[in-house]
Amino acid sequence: MATETRTHRFATQSVHAGASPDPSTGARVQPIYFTNGFVFDSTEQAADIFAMRKTGFSYSRGSNPTVAALERRVAALEGAKAAVAVSSGQSAVLLVLMTLMQSGDAYVASPRLFGGSLGLMRRLDGRYDLKPQFAKGLTPADFEAQITPQTKAIVCESIVNPCATVMDLVGISEVARRHNLPLVVDNTLASPALIRPIEYGADIVVHSTSKFLGGSGQTIGGIICDAGRFDWTATGGRYNLITEPWSDYDGLVITERFPEISFAVACRLFGLRDLGPGLSPMNAFLTLTGIETLPLRMARHCSNARTVAAHLKDHPAVEWVSYPALPGQPGESMAACYVPQGPGSIFTFALKGGEAAAKTFITSLELISHLVNIGEIKSLAIHPATTTHRQLGDADKAAAMVGPETVRLSIGLENVEDLIADIDQALAKLS
Ligand SMILES: *Cc1c(COP(=O)(O)O)cnc(C)c1O
Repeated sequence: MATETRTHRFATQSVHAGASPDPSTGARVQPIYFTNGFVFDSTEQAADIFAMRKTGFSYSRGSNPTVAALERRVAALEGAKAAVAVSSGQSAVLLVLMTLMQSGDAYVASPRLFGGSLGLMRRLDGRYDLKPQFAKGLTPADFEAQITPQTKAIVCESIVNPCATVMDLVGISEVARRHNLPLVVDNTLASPALIRPIEYGADIVVHSTSKFLGGSGQTIGGIICDAGRFDWTATGGRYNLITEPWSDYDGLVITERFPEISFAVACRLFGLRDLGPGLSPMNAFLTLTGIETLPLRMARHCSNARTVAAHLKDHPAVEWVSYPALPGQPGESMAACYVPQGPGSIFTFALKGGEAAAKTFITSLELISHLVNIGEIKSLAIHPATTTHRQLGDADKAAAMVGPETVRLSIGLENVEDLIADIDQALAKLS
């Protein structure tokens, strides 16, 4: 999956990687290929593509040229060998877990994760016996302590939704390496503009492209990136989908045919051909367009978020702010090390007036929208304890820093003075 811009820098890749002028028409923008099927040259070619003996397009559930351009671009930005785009961030997490594991297997998971991932993990545990082994804390030693012979992977986020905690990816990847386990990192809140987890040892990177990559809150999507570095053959057959013959593909062994991109191929064959959550070409196109401005947007997201977080921290109605770029915050040194630009633009803060104050604050906002997305150009607010994290028990809510008094903000690209004025007028309604 070489891209023509492999040697270019990040902003150049954001604009160019994975797409070039259309050879048949000269169209400069990536065309949207709205077609389900692609005409075969011959029955031999059809059979070869079906059997994975040759690459080529056949049916858009498994691959499509517009979607492939998005896959190449995100793979380039993450420094991955290949990527597989899917219909949502939720299905990206699902496909990674299902491709790595079968019933009876387990994986070590961070105790601080996006609420939708926690909900999915609980459901997969109860119905399909895929067991999350939640670490008791955030240090590499906490992750290592949960590993058992059943463990097949380690899963964490780079920057945690919603509290902006920056994880020690180097330390956690050393644990993964020591136990010969793949490290899966959900990089949604950082985007590759802030953190490229593969550079710190991640083997698989997932995104909800619904957030910063798309950027404008128009389309749901997800993507799975394969670093192409993990040696699946050195695991004694523990990942049988990847290392053992597929009888319905003439005995195809993915690690033999596709040694550099084994995990991505397994995700495409099992995840897209069998399970089916493919991404629409239209959504791929909109996401590609969004990515072109990613580095510019992330710089502004971070600087606006830092200003708003600092303003909130000094306000008498505010109990605490969780944004580790502020001086004296827990995790400040980790944030300084991994994200000098700032830990993104999603963070939490707590009001002294408790749940009633949190709800009054949110409903009093005028410019900032009360809605449940993040990573958009527009600023957003939500009450996690009764929405995104409602399924957690009280102790888990406390651990995730989403108690009843907590508000989550996703700071956008507006003039920061206007955001602060809106926040101040909403806070004034509390007294
Ligand atoms: C939003 C989100 C997801 C789920 O993505 P969808 O596109 O909404 O399905 C997964 N992980 C994180 C960290 C998220 O913020």
